Amino acid sequence: REKEEKTVSIDKNEYKDVWVYIELAEGQAKNVAHELLGEGRKLAEAMGQKLAGVLIGDKVEPLAKDIFASGADTVYIVEGPEFKHYSTDGFTAVFSDLIHTYKPAVILMGATNDGRDLGPRVACRVGTGLTADCTSLGIDGETGLVAWTRPAFGGNIMATILCPDHRPQMGTVRPKVFKRPEQDFSRTGEMIRVKSTVEEKDIRTKLIDVVKVCTAACNLEEAEIIVSGGRGMGKPENFTLIEELAGVLGGAVGASRAAVDAGWKPHMHQVGQTGKTVGPKVYFACGISGAIQHMAGMSSSDIVIAINKDADAPIFKAADYGIVGDCLEVIPALIEEFKKI
Ligand code: FAD
Repeated sequence: REKEEKTVSIDKNEYKDVWVYIELAEGQAKNVAHELLGEGRKLAEAMGQKLAGVLIGDKVEPLAKDIFASGADTVYIVEGPEFKHYSTDGFTAVFSDLIHTYKPAVILMGATNDGRDLGPRVACRVGTGLTADCTSLGIDGETGLVAWTRPAFGGNIMATILCPDHRPQMGTVRPKVFKRPEQDFSRTGEMIRVKSTVEEKDIRTKLIDVVKVCTAACNLEEAEIIVSGGRGMGKPENFTLIEELAGVLGGAVGASRAAVDAGWKPHMHQVGQTGKTVGPKVYFACGISGAIQHMAGMSSSDIVIAINKDADAPIFKAADYGIVGDCLEVIPALIEEFKKI
């Protein structure tokens, strides 16, 4: 089926509007969905088109008002118990059918575990391309196409990619690279309820159990405070200081790739180009040099506090507050002080 569809020529003028896939977590739209609605609104206005949210799930219609409030003009809703949990095959089939029927010009998805799974699959199914892991979006002045920008060559250059020949133009965008828009709950819009053509028996993957390995300490994308440690922490045992400081502040624990590669923390804590993109109110970088690939993941933090014994470490260029000193002395002192508050 995928091969057949790739050979079908398309009339690009039939494709209009900007769509955002509304990824859900525990029955609510994830932050990244709102961030993309905010950015999608700007693209839609620049293109003179409408913005739509795509909601697939079980009993999800009440969420539409939250989607309108973040800027959508239209919400497509596909509901059914078979969509209670994300499944690659079920969601791919439904999403591809929606694209065939309604022909969106642009689709934005979060570069999350689900978005990275669903996006390429849907793109392949409808015979278009996908720019993965974007960190900024715009409109190309010459062609009017969406300009998808993402790091390339190990983060040493930023590549801007256009999709001139296929539709829809698709991309995944890292969480936290855009700010969540101010919501306006007086906004309303059109709800389009679409009957699913997928039956439960067509979905080959079944969710048997959910095992939570992630506590608040590793929920980096949603955290308001993150305390990250790098190779400068010296050894894995010293990482307990990072955890303790994060615990006192009610924050999450991050790590540089050097610390993750050394096996001091699992990859789910890694911040940076090949880890998570974070945007907390306060980011502590402890014993982290400030390599470009690390900065790519934390540069949208509101306030950066760096602790490093090398006064010339590049991290200080990105820091709002810098403490030149040994982490093993500075962090215990900070823990003591914060405990008093
Ligand atoms: P180092 O660069 O070794 O820095 C350690 C710092 O600790 C130094 O500045 C030192 O002065 C300081 N220090 C040492 N002892 C102490 C002490 N007692 N107290 C205070 N300070 C001390 N990196 C990421 O982090 N995330 C990524 O996602 C990522 N992706 C990558 C993708 C690619 C394709 C490539 C090529 C690289 C990537 N990297 C990534 C690796 C990156 O280039 C760096 O190697 C890495 O970030 C370095 O980690 P670090 O700062 O912990 O270690």
